[in-house]
Amino acid sequence: MPELPEVETVVRGLRGPLLERTFLDVEVRWARSVVTGAEALRRGLPGRRVEAIDRRGKYLVFRLDDPRTLLIHLKMSGNLLVEPDHAPRDPYMHTVFQLDNGHQLRLRDPRKFGRVYLTTAPDTVLGRLGPEPLADDFSVADFLALCRGRRGVLKALLLNQEFLAGLGNIYASEACFLAGLDPRRPISGLRDEEVARLYHAIRRTLGHGIVHKGSSLDSVYRGGEFQNHFQVYGRESEACFTCGANIERVMLGGRSTCFCPRCQR
Ligand SMILES: [Zn+2]
Repeated sequence: MPELPEVETVVRGLRGPLLERTFLDVEVRWARSVVTGAEALRRGLPGRRVEAIDRRGKYLVFRLDDPRTLLIHLKMSGNLLVEPDHAPRDPYMHTVFQLDNGHQLRLRDPRKFGRVYLTTAPDTVLGRLGPEPLADDFSVADFLALCRGRRGVLKALLLNQEFLAGLGNIYASEACFLAGLDPRRPISGLRDEEVARLYHAIRRTLGHGIVHKGSSLDSVYRGGEFQNHFQVYGRESEACFTCGANIERVMLGGRSTCFCPRCQR
């Protein structure tokens, strides 16, 4: 599942081919993917120009020359490709946006969980998200304030998008390792110094992910190579690169979590 660094990589890759382009048409083959209605998208998008492309959490945010905003969430297996009209399509390209330059923006999504919104009120979708962990004005003090009074297990809380936006299983697991914190600990039991360590670990891990253009896993290849830098994610029973102990795997909040029992306390 693409997380903040993967989505950021997609956003950066789309700016060149899409900024200032105008949508001519939209083809929707899997209507359920358009939360705000496939017909409304088909009617509302043609003629609109892309003025900015940003990211909020794991959402791609397309600002248009119109009060409406186009939002796309890639969910489990989505990817966005810009290809010439005549380039062959595979059966997984469920939503295809025709551009004004002989190219198409193609949402390729084998598992069909990706979601598209065209809305005048993007905050009804984005407003529930927690802070952006990489924002310049997101400080250690902000993170401390966010953690205080919260309940639950550290790793599960990091996956909660309403707590903090953008982390998924990979970067939450890797951040816990970098912070030297056992992902099973209750958040309420962390000392201030440990919360500060976690803050820096989250920002460093996400930053590394972006530098490496995200992780390429499963069949969704994005050209990233952060998977070659994983310390714990997907490394069950392998030796910790730092201490040599066997990496362990537990289930937390229904998600598989790998950690080093010696480095993470
Ligand atoms: Zn270790």
